[in-house]
Amino acid sequence: MSLLENTERPRHDTTRETTLWRGGRILSPTHPDATALLTSGDTIAWIGEDADAPAADRTVDLEGALVTPAFVDSHVHLTGTGASLTGLHLAGLPSAAVVLDRVADFAAALPPDAIVLAHGWDETEWDDAAPPTSEAVGNAAGGRLAYLSRACGHIGVAGPRLLAEHPEFAALDGYDPSGLLTRAAHRAARATVNAAVPVSQRLAAARAGLAHAASLGIAAVVEHSIPNDADPLTEAEFAGLVALGKEPGNPAVYGWWGELRAAEKARDLGAHGCGGDLSADGSLGARTAFLRTPYDDADTLGAEYLTAAEIADHLRECHRVGLSAAFHAIGDGAIANVLDGLDAVEPELGVDAIRRARHRIEHAELLDAALIARMVHHGVHASVQPAFDAAWGGPKGMYAARLGRERALAANPLSKLAGVGVPLAFGSDSPVTALDPWGGVRAAVRHWNPVSRLPMAAAFAAATRGGWRALGIDDSGSLVPNTRANFTVWDLTAGRLPELSDPAAPQPECNLTVAAGSLVYSRA
Ligand SMILES: [Zn+2]
Repeated sequence: MSLLENTERPRHDTTRETTLWRGGRILSPTHPDATALLTSGDTIAWIGEDADAPAADRTVDLEGALVTPAFVDSHVHLTGTGASLTGLHLAGLPSAAVVLDRVADFAAALPPDAIVLAHGWDETEWDDAAPPTSEAVGNAAGGRLAYLSRACGHIGVAGPRLLAEHPEFAALDGYDPSGLLTRAAHRAARATVNAAVPVSQRLAAARAGLAHAASLGIAAVVEHSIPNDADPLTEAEFAGLVALGKEPGNPAVYGWWGELRAAEKARDLGAHGCGGDLSADGSLGARTAFLRTPYDDADTLGAEYLTAAEIADHLRECHRVGLSAAFHAIGDGAIANVLDGLDAVEPELGVDAIRRARHRIEHAELLDAALIARMVHHGVHASVQPAFDAAWGGPKGMYAARLGRERALAANPLSKLAGVGVPLAFGSDSPVTALDPWGGVRAAVRHWNPVSRLPMAAAFAAATRGGWRALGIDDSGSLVPNTRANFTVWDLTAGRLPELSDPAAPQPECNLTVAAGSLVYSRA
């Protein structure tokens, strides 16, 4: 993407087939009484009332249903999302024999080069507490490379092929010739098996994740890939994920490549930007989010993974190559470092170029009015996860344990950000929290701290239009003519958004999802 203009389209529009979507309730700021819209290729060509509708190549009757802009999930990990949907889960199984049966059923559907990697067995409730043997695991996996980790995450059983191909494990602490591995041997085996999953198997999982996203009314996802020195396939996986988003029938995929000062590589891999889950700090749960004042439950400020100088160097390189930059920053210390980095490059790059680039902070959970004002100055977009507040915020949640009640309630100040003009984009960080765009909207309108709540319309805009704006795309996210056809049809017949501040209000179900003019989901 050029920093000056965005002419990139998520997929090529070679046909200009027209479709009339009629008989609905169109949520359009320019045409409040509209019941129909016409798409031409990937574009909304016309909006109005049924009686005035132009002729089209085909017509879809919306049966009175509400049509809104489609959701954008601005922070996902697609492969992990798909793996959590399609993977093999061993938790709660009653015996080693049942574990092995499940493994055999799962493996039977896999190509021969696939890896069998599953998690969650727990022998504590079994009549016979002996874990599955290495040989039995290998047989169940059909001879494939296999590793089954225990529920605790610190022990696993390796199949014979994994042990045979990696004799170096035998020298590690925690190795046992039976194949039951702990400590260093367990960690090495798990990392080896993870890195050996073929790209085709990863993309098959990602495809399932994309299909699930489409079924939830999501027309575009923003992938945040994290390079891993131990996994040489991450680059090919990333390029494959971006390519999946260009297939008609899939939601669009915009990729962030999370490597420091790798803008040229990111561009060559087809990334939208360089950074994303490029960690300026860690997480509150692990006490690695970088704070300016210590944690409440430990004498630490957390982890400063990037200095302001490193952030400035990354920004310089992104501007030279013409990509946007984004940083994972949760704590106020990390957010201050990102803003210090932006301040440092402002004299040489100019504030206009910085604002035009629409750099982002991912998460942006702990920040005061002064930091928020500095985000406004640099035109930084906040890519936030309201579901984090729902899951861990509030007076008695995990954030309160880490930070104390006051700082926990001040976290994720959505209304303060929006109120002074920080553009918001909502995401799930799936699989950290589930793909659930209405759930994210509900979490924002029902923030634990009433002062931080967003009105319904603002929350919905952050989950739709805000995602496009944070990608530098200004012609999508509102149902108006001559913009991109990304919209969703819901099982609602009132011509307005549901009021999710009411805890009893059910979440809408998706009937149809259209991404760039193509139908990507239709409820059977
Ligand atoms: Zn993430």
